[in-house]
Amino acid sequence: MNTPASPLEGATIDTPKPPVIEARALTKHFGGTRHLFARTPTVYAVNGVSFAVQQGETFAIVGESGCGKSTLGRLLLRLIDATEGRVIYQGKDITQIDAASMRKLRREMQIIFQDPFASLNPGMTVGQIIGEPIALHGLAHGAARAERVAQLLRTVGLQPAYADRYPHEFSGGQRQRIGIARALAGEPKLIVGDEPVSALDVSVQAQVINLLEALKQDLGLTLIMVAHDLAVIRHMSDRVAVMYLGEIVELAQVDDLFDAPLHPYTQALLRAIPASTPAARRERPALSGDLPSPTAPPPGCRFHTRCPHAKPRCKDERPLSETLPEGRQVACHFWREIQNAGGGTPLVASVSPKLIERLGIYRERQALANSGV
Ligand code: SF4
Repeated sequence: MNTPASPLEGATIDTPKPPVIEARALTKHFGGTRHLFARTPTVYAVNGVSFAVQQGETFAIVGESGCGKSTLGRLLLRLIDATEGRVIYQGKDITQIDAASMRKLRREMQIIFQDPFASLNPGMTVGQIIGEPIALHGLAHGAARAERVAQLLRTVGLQPAYADRYPHEFSGGQRQRIGIARALAGEPKLIVGDEPVSALDVSVQAQVINLLEALKQDLGLTLIMVAHDLAVIRHMSDRVAVMYLGEIVELAQVDDLFDAPLHPYTQALLRAIPASTPAARRERPALSGDLPSPTAPPPGCRFHTRCPHAKPRCKDERPLSETLPEGRQVACHFWREIQNAGGGTPLVASVSPKLIERLGIYRERQALANSGV
Protein backbone atom coordinates (compact mmCIF):
# COMPACT_ATOMS: atom_id res chain seq x y z
CA MET A 1 0.00 0.00 0.00
CA ASN A 2 1.26 3.45 -0.86
CA THR A 3 1.17 5.40 2.40
CA PRO A 4 0.93 9.16 2.07
CA ALA A 5 3.71 10.89 3.96
CA SER A 6 2.76 12.91 7.01
CA PRO A 7 3.89 16.43 7.82
CA LEU A 8 4.94 15.24 11.26
CA GLU A 9 6.48 11.94 10.20
CA GLY A 10 9.87 11.50 11.77
CA ALA A 11 9.45 14.57 13.96
CA THR A 12 10.83 14.35 17.46
CA ILE A 13 9.47 15.99 20.59
CA ASP A 14 11.76 17.69 23.05
CA THR A 15 10.83 15.92 26.29
CA PRO A 16 13.10 16.15 29.31
CA LYS A 17 11.98 12.84 30.91
CA PRO A 18 11.44 9.42 29.33
CA PRO A 19 7.88 9.32 28.03
CA VAL A 20 5.21 6.92 29.24
CA ILE A 21 3.98 6.33 25.72
CA GLU A 22 5.13 7.32 22.24
CA ALA A 23 3.53 7.16 18.83
CA ARG A 24 6.12 6.84 16.11
CA ALA A 25 4.90 7.47 12.57
CA LEU A 26 1.68 5.71 13.56
CA THR A 27 -0.59 4.94 10.62
CA LYS A 28 -3.97 3.26 10.29
CA HIS A 29 -5.78 2.65 7.02
CA PHE A 30 -9.08 0.80 6.87
CA GLY A 31 -10.58 -0.96 3.84
CA GLY A 32 -8.79 -1.18 0.51
CA THR A 33 -9.64 -4.88 0.33
CA ARG A 34 -10.74 -6.61 -2.85
CA HIS A 35 -14.13 -8.29 -3.05
CA LEU A 36 -15.49 -10.15 -6.08
CA PHE A 37 -15.54 -7.32 -8.61
CA ALA A 38 -14.43 -4.27 -6.69
CA ARG A 39 -12.10 -2.93 -4.07
CA THR A 40 -13.47 -1.16 -0.99
CA PRO A 41 -12.19 2.41 -0.66
CA THR A 42 -9.22 2.94 1.61
CA VAL A 43 -9.92 5.17 4.60
CA TYR A 44 -6.73 7.05 5.52
CA ALA A 45 -7.72 7.42 9.18
CA VAL A 46 -4.32 8.12 10.78
CA ASN A 47 -1.20 9.00 8.79
CA GLY A 48 2.29 8.95 10.25
CA VAL A 49 1.49 10.55 13.60
CA SER A 50 4.35 11.00 16.10
CA PHE A 51 4.34 12.35 19.65
CA ALA A 52 5.36 11.40 23.18
CA VAL A 53 3.43 11.70 26.45
CA GLN A 54 5.16 12.06 29.79
CA GLN A 55 4.36 10.61 33.19
CA GLY A 56 1.63 12.60 34.94
CA GLU A 57 0.82 14.65 31.87
CA THR A 58 -2.65 15.32 30.48
CA PHE A 59 -2.20 15.22 26.72
CA ALA A 60 -5.14 16.18 24.56
CA ILE A 61 -5.89 15.16 20.98
CA VAL A 62 -8.45 17.47 19.39
CA GLY A 63 -10.09 17.88 16.03
CA GLU A 64 -13.42 17.66 14.23
CA SER A 65 -15.49 14.51 14.05
CA GLY A 66 -13.86 12.13 11.56
CA CYS A 67 -10.33 13.54 11.92
CA GLY A 68 -9.01 10.22 13.23
CA LYS A 69 -8.53 11.16 16.89
CA SER A 70 -10.57 8.27 18.32
CA THR A 71 -8.79 5.82 16.01
CA LEU A 72 -5.49 7.21 17.28
CA GLY A 73 -6.59 6.65 20.89
CA ARG A 74 -7.42 3.02 20.12
CA LEU A 75 -4.12 2.52 18.29
CA LEU A 76 -2.20 3.71 21.34
CA LEU A 77 -3.90 1.07 23.49
CA ARG A 78 -3.64 -1.52 20.71
CA LEU A 79 -7.38 -2.03 20.72
CA ILE A 80 -6.80 -1.97 16.96
CA ASP A 81 -3.57 -2.79 15.15
CA ALA A 82 -1.58 -0.21 13.25
CA THR A 83 -1.04 -0.43 9.50
CA GLU A 84 2.42 1.06 9.95
CA GLY A 85 4.43 2.73 12.69
CA ARG A 86 5.03 1.85 16.31
CA VAL A 87 3.67 2.40 19.81
CA ILE A 88 6.34 2.50 22.51
CA TYR A 89 4.98 2.04 26.04
CA GLN A 90 7.46 2.61 28.88
CA GLY A 91 10.35 2.07 26.50
CA LYS A 92 8.97 -1.15 25.00
CA ASP A 93 7.62 -1.54 21.48
CA ILE A 94 4.14 -2.99 21.98
CA THR A 95 3.13 -2.88 18.33
CA GLN A 96 3.94 -6.52 17.67
CA ILE A 97 3.82 -8.20 21.10
CA ASP A 98 1.64 -11.30 21.41
CA ALA A 99 -1.89 -11.37 22.81
CA ALA A 100 -0.90 -12.83 26.21
CA SER A 101 1.72 -10.12 26.82
CA MET A 102 -0.73 -7.46 25.65
CA ARG A 103 -3.39 -8.79 28.06
CA LYS A 104 -1.00 -8.26 30.97
CA LEU A 105 -0.20 -4.74 29.81
CA ARG A 106 -3.86 -3.89 29.27
CA ARG A 107 -4.27 -3.65 33.03
CA GLU A 108 -1.99 -0.61 33.00
CA MET A 109 -3.59 0.98 29.91
CA GLN A 110 -7.30 1.65 30.15
CA ILE A 111 -9.94 3.54 28.20
CA ILE A 112 -13.02 5.50 29.22
CA PHE A 113 -15.55 5.50 26.40
CA GLN A 114 -17.71 8.38 25.26
CA ASP A 115 -21.13 6.84 25.66
CA PRO A 116 -21.90 5.90 29.26
CA PHE A 117 -25.12 4.23 28.08
CA ALA A 118 -23.57 1.90 25.52
CA SER A 119 -20.28 1.12 27.23
CA LEU A 120 -21.69 -0.78 30.22
CA ASN A 121 -23.08 -4.30 29.82
CA PRO A 122 -26.78 -3.99 30.73
CA GLY A 123 -26.92 -7.64 31.86
CA MET A 124 -24.26 -7.25 34.53
CA THR A 125 -24.50 -5.60 37.93
CA VAL A 126 -22.23 -2.68 38.70
CA GLY A 127 -20.27 -4.97 41.04
CA GLN A 128 -19.73 -7.49 38.23
CA ILE A 129 -18.75 -4.75 35.76
CA ILE A 130 -16.13 -3.24 38.07
CA GLY A 131 -15.08 -6.61 39.48
CA GLU A 132 -14.45 -8.16 36.04
CA PRO A 133 -11.00 -6.58 35.45
CA ILE A 134 -10.05 -7.29 39.07
CA ALA A 135 -10.82 -10.98 38.51
CA LEU A 136 -9.28 -11.03 35.03
CA HIS A 137 -5.95 -9.78 36.29
CA GLY A 138 -6.09 -11.84 39.52
CA LEU A 139 -5.87 -8.75 41.73
CA ALA A 140 -8.34 -9.91 44.40
CA HIS A 141 -10.82 -12.72 45.07
CA GLY A 142 -14.02 -13.26 47.07
CA ALA A 143 -14.58 -10.77 49.88
CA ALA A 144 -11.40 -8.87 49.00
CA ARG A 145 -12.73 -8.29 45.49
CA ALA A 146 -16.09 -7.07 46.83
CA GLU A 147 -14.24 -4.70 49.15
CA ARG A 148 -12.12 -3.45 46.24
CA VAL A 149 -15.31 -2.79 44.21
CA ALA A 150 -16.79 -0.88 47.18
CA GLN A 151 -13.60 1.13 47.50
CA LEU A 152 -13.63 2.02 43.79
CA LEU A 153 -17.26 3.11 43.99
CA ARG A 154 -16.38 5.38 46.91
CA THR A 155 -13.39 6.73 44.93
CA VAL A 156 -15.67 7.88 42.11
CA GLY A 157 -18.24 9.33 44.51
CA LEU A 158 -20.83 6.54 44.42
CA GLN A 159 -22.27 4.46 47.25
CA PRO A 160 -20.88 0.93 47.70
CA ALA A 161 -24.48 -0.33 47.89
CA TYR A 162 -24.82 0.46 44.17
CA ALA A 163 -22.75 -2.64 43.41
CA ASP A 164 -25.93 -4.75 43.32
CA ARG A 165 -27.75 -2.51 40.85
CA TYR A 166 -27.80 -2.58 37.04
CA PRO A 167 -26.61 0.21 34.68
CA HIS A 168 -30.13 1.20 33.61
CA GLU A 169 -30.84 2.34 37.17
CA PHE A 170 -28.31 5.20 36.91
CA SER A 171 -28.08 8.63 35.29
CA GLY A 172 -25.56 9.44 32.53
CA GLY A 173 -23.11 11.02 34.95
CA GLN A 174 -23.35 8.10 37.37
CA ARG A 175 -22.79 5.64 34.53
CA GLN A 176 -19.69 7.52 33.43
CA ARG A 177 -18.44 7.31 37.03
CA ILE A 178 -19.03 3.56 36.90
CA GLY A 179 -17.04 3.49 33.64
CA ILE A 180 -14.22 5.38 35.37
CA ALA A 181 -14.32 2.97 38.33
CA ARG A 182 -14.03 0.07 35.88
CA ALA A 183 -11.06 1.76 34.18
CA LEU A 184 -9.40 2.21 37.59
CA ALA A 185 -10.04 -1.39 38.67
CA GLY A 186 -6.85 -2.73 37.08
CA GLU A 187 -4.77 0.00 38.79
CA PRO A 188 -3.79 1.63 35.50
CA LYS A 189 -0.89 3.97 34.82
CA LEU A 190 -2.35 5.41 31.63
CA ILE A 191 -5.97 6.21 30.79
CA VAL A 192 -7.26 7.26 27.38
CA GLY A 193 -10.52 9.21 27.68
CA ASP A 194 -12.37 8.99 24.37
CA GLU A 195 -14.67 12.02 24.59
CA PRO A 196 -15.47 11.01 28.18
CA VAL A 197 -17.76 13.96 28.93
CA SER A 198 -19.20 14.94 25.56
CA ALA A 199 -22.39 12.90 26.03
CA LEU A 200 -23.12 14.50 29.41
CA ASP A 201 -24.98 17.61 30.52
CA VAL A 202 -22.64 20.53 31.25
CA SER A 203 -23.17 20.36 35.03
CA VAL A 204 -22.37 16.63 35.01
CA GLN A 205 -19.40 17.31 32.71
CA ALA A 206 -17.89 19.51 35.41
CA GLN A 207 -18.28 16.76 38.02
CA VAL A 208 -16.62 14.15 35.81
CA ILE A 209 -13.81 16.55 34.78
CA ASN A 210 -13.09 17.37 38.41
CA LEU A 211 -13.18 13.70 39.30
CA LEU A 212 -10.67 12.83 36.57
CA GLU A 213 -8.37 15.63 37.67
CA ALA A 214 -8.55 14.57 41.31
CA LEU A 215 -7.86 10.94 40.40
CA LYS A 216 -4.94 11.97 38.23
CA GLN A 217 -3.41 13.83 41.17
CA ASP A 218 -4.15 11.16 43.76
CA LEU A 219 -3.14 8.12 41.71
CA GLY A 220 -0.36 9.63 39.60
CA LEU A 221 -2.12 8.79 36.35
CA THR A 222 -1.17 9.88 32.87
CA LEU A 223 -4.21 10.99 30.85
CA ILE A 224 -4.71 11.17 27.10
CA MET A 225 -7.92 13.03 26.37
CA VAL A 226 -9.51 12.65 22.95
CA ALA A 227 -12.01 15.48 22.54
CA HIS A 228 -13.54 18.06 20.28
CA ASP A 229 -14.58 20.42 23.08
CA LEU A 230 -11.73 22.92 23.32
CA ALA A 231 -13.14 24.52 26.46
CA VAL A 232 -12.80 21.23 28.32
CA ILE A 233 -9.36 20.68 26.80
CA ARG A 234 -8.11 24.10 27.88
CA HIS A 235 -9.28 23.45 31.41
CA MET A 236 -7.71 19.99 31.75
CA SER A 237 -4.66 19.66 29.52
CA ASP A 238 -0.95 20.29 29.70
CA ARG A 239 -0.27 19.88 25.96
CA VAL A 240 -2.53 19.65 22.95
CA ALA A 241 -2.16 17.95 19.55
CA VAL A 242 -4.52 19.28 16.87
CA MET A 243 -5.53 16.71 14.26
CA TYR A 244 -6.84 17.31 10.76
CA LEU A 245 -7.67 14.45 8.41
CA GLY A 246 -5.47 11.92 10.18
CA GLU A 247 -2.47 14.19 10.72
CA ILE A 248 -1.25 16.37 13.58
CA VAL A 249 -1.01 19.93 12.27
CA GLU A 250 0.00 21.62 15.52
CA LEU A 251 1.28 20.46 18.90
CA ALA A 252 1.90 22.86 21.77
CA GLN A 253 1.60 23.60 25.46
CA VAL A 254 -2.04 24.38 26.14
CA ASP A 255 -1.56 28.07 27.00
CA ASP A 256 0.66 28.67 23.96
CA LEU A 257 -1.91 27.04 21.71
CA PHE A 258 -4.84 29.03 23.04
CA ASP A 259 -2.98 32.34 23.40
CA ALA A 260 -1.28 32.27 20.01
CA PRO A 261 -2.46 29.49 17.67
CA LEU A 262 -0.01 29.15 14.78
CA HIS A 263 -1.81 26.85 12.34
CA PRO A 264 -4.81 28.22 10.39
CA TYR A 265 -6.83 25.14 11.33
CA THR A 266 -6.15 25.65 15.06
CA GLN A 267 -7.14 29.29 14.66
CA ALA A 268 -10.39 28.23 13.01
CA LEU A 269 -11.16 25.68 15.74
CA LEU A 270 -10.57 28.25 18.48
CA ARG A 271 -12.95 30.70 16.84
CA ALA A 272 -15.71 28.17 17.41
CA ILE A 273 -15.42 28.57 21.20
CA PRO A 274 -18.04 30.96 22.64
CA ALA A 275 -16.21 34.11 23.71
CA SER A 276 -17.36 36.60 26.31
CA THR A 277 -15.53 39.79 25.28
CA PRO A 278 -15.75 41.98 22.17
CA ALA A 279 -12.01 41.54 21.57
CA ALA A 280 -12.43 37.78 21.42
CA ARG A 281 -15.44 38.08 19.13
CA ARG A 282 -13.76 40.25 16.53
CA GLU A 283 -13.87 39.20 12.92
CA ARG A 284 -11.37 36.65 11.65
CA PRO A 285 -11.32 34.53 8.49
CA ALA A 286 -13.99 31.83 8.74
CA LEU A 287 -13.52 28.09 8.34
CA SER A 288 -15.66 27.10 5.38
CA GLY A 289 -16.80 23.78 3.99
CA ASP A 290 -16.88 20.28 5.43
CA LEU A 291 -14.05 17.98 6.37
CA PRO A 292 -13.03 16.22 3.13
CA SER A 293 -13.51 12.46 2.99
CA PRO A 294 -10.66 10.49 4.54
CA THR A 295 -10.98 8.14 1.55
CA ALA A 296 -9.71 10.90 -0.73
CA PRO A 297 -7.59 13.34 1.28
CA PRO A 298 -6.59 16.44 -0.72
CA PRO A 299 -3.03 16.50 -2.11
CA GLY A 300 -0.44 18.91 -0.78
CA CYS A 301 -1.61 20.41 2.49
CA ARG A 302 -4.75 18.52 3.47
CA PHE A 303 -6.28 21.70 4.83
CA HIS A 304 -5.86 23.69 1.61
CA THR A 305 -9.49 23.17 0.48
CA ARG A 306 -10.73 25.09 3.55
CA CYS A 307 -7.81 27.30 4.47
CA PRO A 308 -8.42 31.06 4.08
CA HIS A 309 -4.65 31.55 3.59
CA ALA A 310 -4.09 28.82 0.95
CA LYS A 311 -1.71 29.62 -1.94
CA PRO A 312 -0.84 27.60 -5.05
CA ARG A 313 2.11 25.97 -3.26
CA CYS A 314 -0.28 24.52 -0.66
CA LYS A 315 -2.07 22.42 -3.30
CA ASP A 316 1.11 20.73 -4.48
CA GLU A 317 3.47 20.51 -1.56
CA ARG A 318 2.77 18.85 1.77
CA PRO A 319 4.03 21.09 4.59
CA LEU A 320 6.65 19.48 6.80
CA SER A 321 6.43 19.91 10.52
CA GLU A 322 8.64 22.58 11.98
CA THR A 323 9.77 22.19 15.57
CA LEU A 324 10.27 25.50 17.34
CA PRO A 325 12.88 25.97 20.09
CA GLU A 326 10.32 25.47 22.89
CA GLY A 327 9.29 22.10 21.42
CA ARG A 328 6.14 23.39 19.77
CA GLN A 329 5.36 21.95 16.32
CA VAL A 330 3.43 23.34 13.38
CA ALA A 331 2.92 22.02 9.85
CA CYS A 332 2.12 25.00 7.58
CA HIS A 333 4.16 26.61 4.80
CA PHE A 334 3.11 30.11 5.76
CA TRP A 335 2.54 30.16 9.52
CA ARG A 336 5.08 32.97 10.05
CA GLU A 337 3.47 35.24 7.46
CA ILE A 338 0.02 34.49 8.88
CA GLN A 339 1.25 35.17 12.41
CA ASN A 340 2.88 38.46 11.37
CA ALA A 341 -0.39 39.50 9.75
CA GLY A 342 -2.25 38.97 13.06
CA GLY A 343 -3.83 35.56 12.36
CA GLY A 344 -2.65 34.18 15.72
CA THR A 345 -3.92 36.99 17.92
CA PRO A 346 -4.63 35.68 21.43
CA LEU A 347 -8.15 34.73 22.42
CA VAL A 348 -9.25 36.50 25.56
CA ALA A 349 -11.86 34.13 26.94
CA SER A 350 -11.71 30.54 25.84
CA VAL A 351 -13.52 28.53 28.49
CA SER A 352 -17.28 28.68 28.61
CA PRO A 353 -18.30 30.91 31.57
CA LYS A 354 -21.02 28.39 32.39
CA LEU A 355 -18.49 25.57 32.63
CA ILE A 356 -16.20 27.69 34.84
CA GLU A 357 -19.13 28.43 37.10
CA ARG A 358 -20.10 24.77 37.33
CA LEU A 359 -16.53 23.68 38.02
CA GLY A 360 -16.28 26.28 40.78
CA ILE A 361 -19.54 25.20 42.40
CA TYR A 362 -18.52 21.57 42.33
CA ARG A 363 -15.10 22.34 43.85
CA GLU A 364 -16.75 24.31 46.65
CA ARG A 365 -19.04 21.39 47.38
CA GLN A 366 -16.11 19.00 47.37
CA ALA A 367 -14.18 21.25 49.77
CA LEU A 368 -17.17 21.39 52.10
CA ALA A 369 -17.60 17.61 51.95
CA ASN A 370 -13.90 17.08 52.66
CA SER A 371 -13.97 19.45 55.62
CA GLY A 372 -16.89 17.53 57.09
CA VAL A 373 -19.17 20.59 57.28
FE1 SF4 B 1 -2.02 24.52 4.60
FE2 SF4 B 1 -1.20 26.52 3.06
FE3 SF4 B 1 -3.20 26.91 4.79
FE4 SF4 B 1 -0.72 26.56 5.67
S1 SF4 B 1 -1.46 28.26 4.44
S2 SF4 B 1 -2.55 25.55 6.47
S3 SF4 B 1 0.10 25.09 4.20
S4 SF4 B 1 -3.24 25.55 3.04
